[in-house]
Amino acid sequence: MIEVRGLTKVYPPSTVALRDVSLKIPDGQFVTVIGPSGAGKSSLLRCVNGLVAPTAGEILIDGESLTAARGEARRRLVARIGFVFQQFNLIKRLSVLDNVLVGRLSHVPELRSLVGSFPRRDRVLADAVLARVGLAELAHRRADTLSGGQQQRVAIARALVQEPRTILADEPMASLDPALSRTVMDLLRRINEEDGITVITTLHVMDLALEYGQRVIGLRDGRVVYDGGAAGVTDEIVDAIFGGGAG
Ligand code: ADP
Repeated sequence: MIEVRGLTKVYPPSTVALRDVSLKIPDGQFVTVIGPSGAGKSSLLRCVNGLVAPTAGEILIDGESLTAARGEARRRLVARIGFVFQQFNLIKRLSVLDNVLVGRLSHVPELRSLVGSFPRRDRVLADAVLARVGLAELAHRRADTLSGGQQQRVAIARALVQEPRTILADEPMASLDPALSRTVMDLLRRINEEDGITVITTLHVMDLALEYGQRVIGLRDGRVVYDGGAAGVTDEIVDAIFGGGAG
């Protein structure tokens, strides 16, 4: 369970990205966070995995405060969360397999990872997740020789190899054309259904949110303006999220 309590984020000097957001996300949900550009979606995800420090409020992961945790305790909490970025964030000159193994770094002692010595179990796991995302044959290709859709699947494999309880995906299809968006969303849905991993993905288009989101959270100007099932998203709610604003 991920719990967000009274989360406010202000970027200096005075950009308010999130205003007193509170949410409870039980294990195994597929949640889409929807809202126009600048609504605070990315800031919300980044606070949840500790990439961005809240200005006020607290993030609890399985009842433990990420906000208060330091050192080893914090590293353990963050290791339970995989993150998929809009721009994939692969290391271009490394192979697909090595990019996936980067996802194991949170589990491997630092020195061994520096010399590129991953335990055998990690390699077996990396091979298995690559097969799962349909990229087994490309394991030894340089990451930057892959198409955008393939690179995003490598990024999802990198998150999976972490053996996370939750995957956060920040507009994972924003850099892809519409046909590939569906491939990425289908893969996230399969991971959610087959492994029971909680998936929280941000989107800036409504149709995908309604199609895939078990639960839809609408953000506008840093506030939650809707939180419920896809079926409850009426035209008025779409207007409350997107109407008259940027995005
Ligand atoms: P979204 O993901 O919905 O587009 P963001 O969380 O990226 O929204 O941004 C919310 C607000 O915070 C925007 O006004 C954005 O310009 C601002 N913002 C985001 N990141 C930073 C940052 N690192 N420094 C300053 N302002 C930021």
